[in-house]
Amino acid sequence: MKIIFIGPPGSGKGTQAKRLASRLAVPHISTGDMLREAVAAGTPVGQKAASIMASGALVPDDVMIEIINDRLAQPDAQKGFILDGFPRTLVQAEKLDGLVGNGKSELRVLQLLVPDDAIVRRITLRRTCPQCGAIYHLENSRPASDSVCDRDGVEVIARPDDNEEAVRKRLDVFHRDTVPVASYYKAKSILREVDGIGPVDEVFERIEKSLAHGSS
Ligand code: ADP
Repeated sequence: MKIIFIGPPGSGKGTQAKRLASRLAVPHISTGDMLREAVAAGTPVGQKAASIMASGALVPDDVMIEIINDRLAQPDAQKGFILDGFPRTLVQAEKLDGLVGNGKSELRVLQLLVPDDAIVRRITLRRTCPQCGAIYHLENSRPASDSVCDRDGVEVIARPDDNEEAVRKRLDVFHRDTVPVASYYKAKSILREVDGIGPVDEVFERIEKSLAHGSS
């Protein structure tokens, strides 16, 4: 199974993509997570990406394509993958077509639909664990002990790009650059649209149903 998740920032894409990857036993490939790791490690890519990400803009296509090219060549990605955060532009989508080659028929694209007005509120209440990447929400899924991660006890933080200004910028970028990517896959009849509003479990059920149904 090769699955791409598309959705606005804060649509629950990361949470759902992680879950689906463990259900299908394929790697969860999140370009946002990979970039944050590069920033934390201080690699040349990380140094270049840090300020771009914090502002809510996109990292250049050529950098992203190189990252994803290397990642998809790893042995664990040969049986399938869940892509979370890539492709985000038409240039990236066209490049990915070349990378997935003849397996294109196995490709499925899930678009999580969440209206803009729900997004800003969701994101400003989001907290993540800087160590393991676990995602919490101060209203819906608080960590058991207030401000530390359930798994490793590290203090959970707001991502540097989870402030209102950067969120609005990311939403603009989503509509301008990434919505055309969804249209691109719609034209190929491999897009499934899923309502992203509601509890995590319900959204996950909708995703599983939409993947099980139809053969488009
Ligand atoms: P979200 O979907 O919540 O905005 P991500 O974790 O997917 O967050 O991405 C965070 C940031 O990383 C993006 O705002 C962007 O700067 C950068 N990024 C991630 N993936 C890509 C990509 N495919 N192309 C360009 N920039 C990317």
